[in-house]
Amino acid sequence: MSAAENRPSPRLLIVGPPGAGKGTQAVAIAESLGIPAISTGDIFRANVKNETELGVKVKAILDAGDYVPDSLTNELISDRLSQPDAAEGFLLDGYPRTLQQVEFLDEHLAEKGQSLTTVVQLVADRDEIVERLQRRAVEQGRSDDTEDAIRHRQDVYLRETAPLIETYRERGLLVEVDGLGSIDEVAGRIETALAHRGFSPVASAS
Ligand code: ADP
Repeated sequence: MSAAENRPSPRLLIVGPPGAGKGTQAVAIAESLGIPAISTGDIFRANVKNETELGVKVKAILDAGDYVPDSLTNELISDRLSQPDAAEGFLLDGYPRTLQQVEFLDEHLAEKGQSLTTVVQLVADRDEIVERLQRRAVEQGRSDDTEDAIRHRQDVYLRETAPLIETYRERGLLVEVDGLGSIDEVAGRIETALAHRGFSPVASAS
């Protein structure tokens, strides 16, 4: 608690193509900073698995590798960011993914007098990514990790989401990190980049 009072609240995004290792890194960064990692993909998949009302609505969309409608995704995020554990910071993984989601997030934070502090972009080679995703499909048995769906998600990302990164670059929020290498190597690069921005691991986590 006291650590949070002595530093700006980390309100962070991690962005990059599907398969660049965002999820893994997000969990590690969030833990070291003492903030929740919030992954829209994980939340959607959990809902599908538990056959909730939301899960039933989005299952076919996830399996096809398309984006869930902004209205559903934005509502989910505004609920999640209103939970007490996100009051002093958060790391979003997989959101925002469309311009409309960027605007929604800006407004949601502005209503609370808040704004984003840093956007970490993981940069990774396309071939390496496809290989990683095929490995993950086998390891985790994700039903949205068929080869067609993987390719489709890459295309959707390039078309819909890559342009958003420029918006954050123009705002001076973007930090680019090389996403190739071992998990620890990439984690080390992210930690250094965030430390330059004033976000160091909280004492209790080290
Ligand atoms: P990946 O990183 O492999 O693309 P995610 O776990 O981030 O996977 O997301 C899985 C799926 O969940 C996406 O393909 C999409 O259907 C849905 N999804 C996740 N986040 C969003 C979002 N912000 N907007 C719309 N759909 C989303």
